[in-house]
Amino acid sequence: MMEIQMLDHWVRLSVRLLFDILWVSYEDDTGTHRELPSHADSPGADYSATSSTLLPWPAGLPPYPIYVPQDLETLLQQAVASLPSFRPGPHAIGSVPLPIFVEGPAELPHHPWATLVEQLPQIAPYLPRLQTVYLTPKKPIARPAFRLPLRVLAVGGRCDAALEYMKSADWYANDPVVKTHGLQFETVEPQQMAKALRAEMREVVMIEDTEVADLLKAASRLPQPVLTRPRLVIVLSTGVSQPSTARLNLPPGMALLWIKDGGLSAVESFIKEFLYNLIHNYPLHEALKAAAQSVKVFSPSELQLFANPQSNHYLRLSDALTQLQQETLTLNQTVARGNLEAFFRRMGKDVSQKTRTIVAEALEEREAIQQAATVTREINIEFGQETTSLVPLAYAEALVSKARASQQKIRARLSPLMNSTAFLDAVEKHQARRVDVALERLIPEAMTYTAVAPKRRLVKGARYRLRVHIGLPSEDSLMIGETPPLDPLLPEPEGDKGHTLDVVVFEKDFTLLSPRVQNLQLPRLRGSEPVYFELVAPQRDTAELRIGIYHRNHLLQSFLLEAQVGADEWIDSPSPQVTVRLNFSRTARFTNLPSLTPRALSIGVNQNPATNEHAFMLKRDSDTLLFPVTEKIIADQQETFRKLLREATTDAQGNPRFPTYPAAGTPPSEEFNQVIRELADLGGALHHALFVRADKKMQKALREIAAITDDIIQIVRHDPNFAYPWPVIYDFQLPTKIAGAPAPPVCLGGVDAAAAAANANAQHCSHGPKDKVYCLKGFWGLRHQVEQLLALGDNLEDAVVKVERNPQAGICLAVGEKDEHTQKMTDELRNKLGAAVFELKQQEDLLDRLWKPAERPAILVTLGHLETNQIAGEPEGPRIVIQPKQQWLQAQEITNRQIADGDWEQQPNTLILLMACGSAATDIATLNDLSTAFTSTRAAAIVGTECVVFSRLVARFAEEVTLDLWNGMPLGQAVKQFNRRLTGAGNPLAFVFNYLGAADLQVAL
Ligand SMILES: [Zn+2]
Repeated sequence: MMEIQMLDHWVRLSVRLLFDILWVSYEDDTGTHRELPSHADSPGADYSATSSTLLPWPAGLPPYPIYVPQDLETLLQQAVASLPSFRPGPHAIGSVPLPIFVEGPAELPHHPWATLVEQLPQIAPYLPRLQTVYLTPKKPIARPAFRLPLRVLAVGGRCDAALEYMKSADWYANDPVVKTHGLQFETVEPQQMAKALRAEMREVVMIEDTEVADLLKAASRLPQPVLTRPRLVIVLSTGVSQPSTARLNLPPGMALLWIKDGGLSAVESFIKEFLYNLIHNYPLHEALKAAAQSVKVFSPSELQLFANPQSNHYLRLSDALTQLQQETLTLNQTVARGNLEAFFRRMGKDVSQKTRTIVAEALEEREAIQQAATVTREINIEFGQETTSLVPLAYAEALVSKARASQQKIRARLSPLMNSTAFLDAVEKHQARRVDVALERLIPEAMTYTAVAPKRRLVKGARYRLRVHIGLPSEDSLMIGETPPLDPLLPEPEGDKGHTLDVVVFEKDFTLLSPRVQNLQLPRLRGSEPVYFELVAPQRDTAELRIGIYHRNHLLQSFLLEAQVGADEWIDSPSPQVTVRLNFSRTARFTNLPSLTPRALSIGVNQNPATNEHAFMLKRDSDTLLFPVTEKIIADQQETFRKLLREATTDAQGNPRFPTYPAAGTPPSEEFNQVIRELADLGGALHHALFVRADKKMQKALREIAAITDDIIQIVRHDPNFAYPWPVIYDFQLPTKIAGAPAPPVCLGGVDAAAAAANANAQHCSHGPKDKVYCLKGFWGLRHQVEQLLALGDNLEDAVVKVERNPQAGICLAVGEKDEHTQKMTDELRNKLGAAVFELKQQEDLLDRLWKPAERPAILVTLGHLETNQIAGEPEGPRIVIQPKQQWLQAQEITNRQIADGDWEQQPNTLILLMACGSAATDIATLNDLSTAFTSTRAAAIVGTECVVFSRLVARFAEEVTLDLWNGMPLGQAVKQFNRRLTGAGNPLAFVFNYLGAADLQVAL
């Protein structure tokens, strides 16, 4: 059930008695507010005294001065100007009135403060454009959006009589469909009232003031108040009780309209007009003002509305329309559409003839659902007239209730299959459900939405509603790319909860009016209900936004919406103007979700070529952060990072600065401490940059990340070339820098060199995010696992979470750099793993082997010199030497092979260690290109280096990590453990190693 976003304008004026002054504070829906002063002697520049003569003064109250915000009149003028000055339709009153919610001081709850406020000189001139409403004192509650029928309960004969004009209208009196599905009237005697309320929810209850106290008591005692309480109470008053008493006792979630009973015909006329106005989709305050204006016999104080900005909209017919559309879309997704024959053909032997017959017979019932869907889709509502609003809506509701009955029948007929695991598995295996995105434009005058056709532009500044669901493509789909088969979606098995996904809209160029994260319930078999996001199109010619589908913070799929935007929607062009395209996917059919484990945080990085900007998109549970970063800032930070690593690699003589195998028990050098301090300073600055841009909720989420250990942080590069030093982000506090003081010590995270050599799981220190310290645990890459994933287009594939072993080829070593260190690695791996390890043969072409599934290894270790010099007889450009003078690894050759021979469609999807060594700082883009090329062919992961390092270090890394991987350790953990061992022993170069692929990727045992 969706909650409708409140977007109508309102103003709230609160009268307070403070320091012997009456203050009128201001607040509105845009967030503008004028606060009360905190000291008697400083009323503040914001407030000034206003004339209080002639005001309806509360009895017994001394003539206190009244202070109002200095700019009250300007604020009101602006608020009024933001509302349409014309409302079409025969019942309209010209302009849309601004609701002003008034509350009085707690000391004087019974005084009619709205009457006083209306007479203020700053407000009186605007009265024709305003409607004052008494603010209900209870906290608002969120109620499900209104849905037809509108049920009206009259209590007692007087109220029954007051509805007579309404009940005699031709469109109502002679139409049984409207009477059942559109508008229902019922009358009970006061003694039966409480029982009637318990029996069924009534949206509107009419009652005399003698009974109102009983009604409010009964309403406050109803079970499940959000579902069962009346939304509006209309009180006919003969002056027996005070309206303010009713207002103060009104239970949350209800509004109340108080009418001075000045004779039956006046009340009848007024009620008729008021109810008609609700049918014409007015909020309560506007329905009241328009009715009062056409009936003309009531003075303003004889009609009092008690509501809040939420309950003012509890009875909108546009909500009823949206509910109807949403239900038919969902019903239509389930069983109503789809090509059964084609689906059976694809299922082949997985579905028996008997089962086919049951399904086919069950689906014969789907006609009613299709009819309801078609009628609702084509419904053309104009709220200005009951015959074009309530009446057609009632007819559509009648069809929907038939459709619901059909769905029940289908469910019943399918029930013999719903306990069959084989059948459910077969459907799940073959059924194609996709994310579908549509955009609907708000027609403000009509309060309805119409679908945006792909060949129309968006309109600058116009309001839209983005609709996202998973299932079959809708008629309004904006998706481009491969068209999925139209499979019938069946009802879900009884008791099957399915998965809760998060849909996140990173609005980028748009303005987002609704929350950025919405939950989407995905059942096992059928389509999901849609979720909606309210947007405003920007004042620019092109616009994009990104949609992410997450499961437990693991990004499943990501889509890019791109739109042309203009002054109007008309454009003469054969090409689509609004498109949505998949660009990242870890699931083909949403059936592998259990294998995609939770992430602590997911960060997407998006590129915007038009502005040379990147956007960081963070998501943890319901908290998100979107912020742009310029290319330059990113490049500078990445360069600073690499410079630190390069300087940590070699000394002035070109020798390694830090030992690869520090002797056990040797304390880390001061040089090491200095490098760690510099890395932490950089990482701390990066963390601050994220933190200060986050809102309070995201800041809380980042604080949580800082306090937890051993979790996985996911980075998705929507631009594959984008590199950023995520593992170096440092989220503990840093020591305050004191001039002249000795440099602060560096904590190894509690793992000293000896312990690290002996036991990688040695105890940690007790440092946490609040300690001002240089501690290895403060780095994301050492405390957590940082996985990076590449977005490479629109392939719908399940993520590889396990690399299968190939009996013919276990671990392939392609070592072009022959020295004592690489020899040691080869010997050690051979000793420990035996026949699983083999070397690439002389003359053997590595790519030939990789493109033969029977010979493709589970793990490939390429370790070679990164050559950048032009050498006669060798290919041009940077290359990794695999066999000196014979074979080199280059990205373009991998891509050529992929173009010629296709992707690796069968296991093993090799896990590649791409170990480039050398002594000179070299263009790292080469390595990035190689990683991208291998990822594109479906290698499960590429483990690489940030810069070129000595062969002894990459050999140690390759040896230890390969051993752990082969023994079943997940990739992220193997890399993290190595990095902890290395840094714990006093070598800071752990930050050199990174990987593209899932942290929990494993080699099958
Ligand atoms: Zn520590």
